[in-house]
Amino acid sequence: ELYNKVLELKGNIRVFCRCRPLNSEEIDGGASVAVDFEAAKDGELIVKSNGISKKTFKFDAVFSPEADQVEVFEETAPLAISVLDGYNVCIFAYGQTGTGKTFTMEGTNEARGVNYRTLEKLFDIIEERQNTFRYEVSVSVLEVYNEQIRDLLVSDSQPGLSAKRLEIKQVGEGGHHVPGLVEAHVNNVSEVWEVLRTGSNGRAVGSTNANEHSSRSHCIYCVMVKGDNLLNGECTRSKLWLVDLAGSERIAKTEVQGERLKETQNINRSLSALGDVISALATRSPHIPFRNSKLTHLLQDSLGGDSKTLMFVHISPNENDLTETLCSLNFASRVR
Ligand code: ADP
Ligand code: MG
Repeated sequence: ELYNKVLELKGNIRVFCRCRPLNSEEIDGGASVAVDFEAAKDGELIVKSNGISKKTFKFDAVFSPEADQVEVFEETAPLAISVLDGYNVCIFAYGQTGTGKTFTMEGTNEARGVNYRTLEKLFDIIEERQNTFRYEVSVSVLEVYNEQIRDLLVSDSQPGLSAKRLEIKQVGEGGHHVPGLVEAHVNNVSEVWEVLRTGSNGRAVGSTNANEHSSRSHCIYCVMVKGDNLLNGECTRSKLWLVDLAGSERIAKTEVQGERLKETQNINRSLSALGDVISALATRSPHIPFRNSKLTHLLQDSLGGDSKTLMFVHISPNENDLTETLCSLNFASRVR
């Protein structure tokens, strides 16, 4: 409730910054750290260069490398309640490859991420509310790669020629759906997990390097919730989108050609389209350019209006990554 009040005051877009720890190679190599978390409690991140403070960024929350998954989720959990109250919610992980997007969203078996924790919370509340609400939950798993939408729950889907290409169809005012998209009904968090695992397996199919592929595509979970209020007969429909975005690193056009160049251009285009949409929403611009990318088009009815958006911007603490870090922080400041 407090969270909803805060959102009303600030609009429905929040940006959290999370910094990964230095890895052992960086520590062994004597890497220097370019970020300071002294004022993290106030949502401030200070970027340093050669030990001198250069610029301060302000976010709704700043998580230092010591922040664990539980701490991060505490700030995210209220969104699970929002979904069950009928709001559409988008949670994005943005950042350069290797900064912890997948760690935040998926996590590991020992340190589960936002996806699992949010769904666990969702089903906990569903149980708490069972005398007053009946909920139906289904899940879709999608990938946007090279401006093509692929359904990862279709078992024989293959990247490339045989891929089952999905299109977005407009239905009525503002609404739209993806005809043919598989929606798996789920009754509890372990069933969800099963479905998500199937989806991840579908993702690696046919790609020679699964890690490379995942850094160049957007991985999208869509959780659809239908709620029936048993007391007053009211019905709600809402969606929770969990999006692990493609890596935001800029690749010099001179370094890539052919397919790789097209891929790079598509990533840049869709990430900047997302930034454009969120900043247009944040500044209440009359025109929101949803149609500039598949991703923003797909998420159109869950961005804006009374929908809630949370963007995690991930950064590296390593001074060697400073250029990319500043790019990510500038992107994040623009959408806030
Ligand atoms: P991305 O998805 O952005 O490419 P990953 O999530 O794969 O990055 O993270 C890269 C590596 O750093 C992984 O080994 C991951 O476990 C580790 N890592 C990232 N963030 C954290 C964190 N906050 N705490 C501990 N390890 C992290
Ligand atoms: Mg990743």
